[in-house]
Amino acid sequence: MSHDFDLFVIGAGSGGVRAARFAAGYGARVAVAESRYLGGTCVNVGCVPKKLLVYGAHFAEDFEQASGFGWSLGEANFDWPTLIANKNREIERLNGIYRNLLTNSGVSLFEGHARIVDAHTVEVNGQRHSAERILIATGGWPQIPDIPGREHAISSNEAFFLKQLPRRVLVVGGGYIAVEFASIFHGLGAHTSLLYRGDLFLRGFDGAVREHLRDELNKKGLDLQFNADIANIERQADGSLAATLKDGRVLEADCVFYATGRRPMLDNLGLENVEVKLDKRGYIEVDDLFQTSTPSILALGDVIGRVQLTPVALAEGMAVARRLFKPEEYRPLDYSMIPTAVFSLPNIGTVGLSEEQAIEAGHKVKVFESRFRPMKLTLTENPERTLMKLVVDAGSDRVLGCHMVGPEAGEIVQGLAVALKAGATKQIFDETIGVHPSAAEEFVTLRTPVSR
Ligand SMILES: Cc1cc2nc3c(=O)[nH]c(=O)nc-3n(C[C@H](O)[C@H](O)[C@H](O)COP(=O)(O)OP(=O)(O)OC[C@H]3O[C@@H](n4cnc5c(N)ncnc54)[C@H](O)[C@@H]3O)c2cc1C
Repeated sequence: MSHDFDLFVIGAGSGGVRAARFAAGYGARVAVAESRYLGGTCVNVGCVPKKLLVYGAHFAEDFEQASGFGWSLGEANFDWPTLIANKNREIERLNGIYRNLLTNSGVSLFEGHARIVDAHTVEVNGQRHSAERILIATGGWPQIPDIPGREHAISSNEAFFLKQLPRRVLVVGGGYIAVEFASIFHGLGAHTSLLYRGDLFLRGFDGAVREHLRDELNKKGLDLQFNADIANIERQADGSLAATLKDGRVLEADCVFYATGRRPMLDNLGLENVEVKLDKRGYIEVDDLFQTSTPSILALGDVIGRVQLTPVALAEGMAVARRLFKPEEYRPLDYSMIPTAVFSLPNIGTVGLSEEQAIEAGHKVKVFESRFRPMKLTLTENPERTLMKLVVDAGSDRVLGCHMVGPEAGEIVQGLAVALKAGATKQIFDETIGVHPSAAEEFVTLRTPVSR
């Protein structure tokens, strides 16, 4: 039976757009439905606007450091509405680029909420479209726990559109989004507390990295409160918020920001009309080929809950398009050695195994570490220190993990990821000539293992 489309993609986010464009480029008849914003989470309420706010927050330190280099500036003033308006303009420009990318590659774009009617039919704006295959790329959505007063709290979705910079912010959560937003609010001048119910934030990252970042954020005056959680939030007569913690303390704030996890976006998707299995955590279950339990329906990106990062969704989108429409170029996706950054101030950059993960996986490890004051800060009062760390397999000499906390860590780790993916040994790191003077050269001059 002939269908209207070869592929109907639900969601024009990172993964959906990539799959649609590649599939159309390979000659398939492709449609995309998008209910909110072209480009999805990353472009509109994720990576891109977040990084712009991080740049904005870093200027506070730049201005402070400039005096050490002979610059004298007047009093620095920050205007949140200007930053948000400029950010919004840039996002609108990117939305336009995404629209052109889709339409120029011959993809039919339907702007509206899509519902699956059966294994080969999708309904958007009351119209039904049939497709050989349906690809669910609907992403995720922030979750705020169901505590009394949760209606007074915001998530990352709203934080990007606040009318004013709050004077006092409570950031709740211990993942990378919480840590990044705490750095943003603090850097821009809000009195910021980060509350996390565990002992230390960024679970899953290398222990030394987590501790180093904790110490650096403390030095900057960010109020970190571990083993702390909010029981309820109340609006007070003067409009401010009072958050009562589980230990009975009451913290006052103008904004309570939750970054306590995301759920798959399956709302009103029509999954009850088809047999698509979910895993124990509620994400769509797929096999190695991104196929769900209904063979004509595939899924990728945040909604399958594997590695929730834009470059991973992009790679999954490309893999799906190739397998379906250009099988000779298909290669299975390799999820090992995915580099990642936390754009806190200072940044974290990391690739490969943490020391703890390496030991747990049975490696006998050698660890190399360097802690130093970045050259750029030597003429300033700023006491920030950088951490660089290599985790090496003592038997094979293979570098299992590279970790950094410091300026530009996110930029530096990308090149290291290529080396680790290629299987670089510590000896190859040692034989690589450094770039001088740079912070990155420390990664090739680490000579003595740390004794544990
Ligand atoms: C605050 C924040 C910061 C982040 N920072 C980074 C970062 O620095 N680096 C990084 O790699 N990743 C980052 N991420 C994660 C990244 O944004 C996601 O991993 C990525 O966007 C996932 O892509 P996706 O295609 O799976 O889904 P999404 O990009 O979420 O796209 C899904 C799209 O589907 C649409 N949709 C949903 N349901 C329907 C429906 N029924 N009909 C039609 N359309 C629908 C949605 O409106 C959305 O546009 C961040 C996320 C957040 C929230």
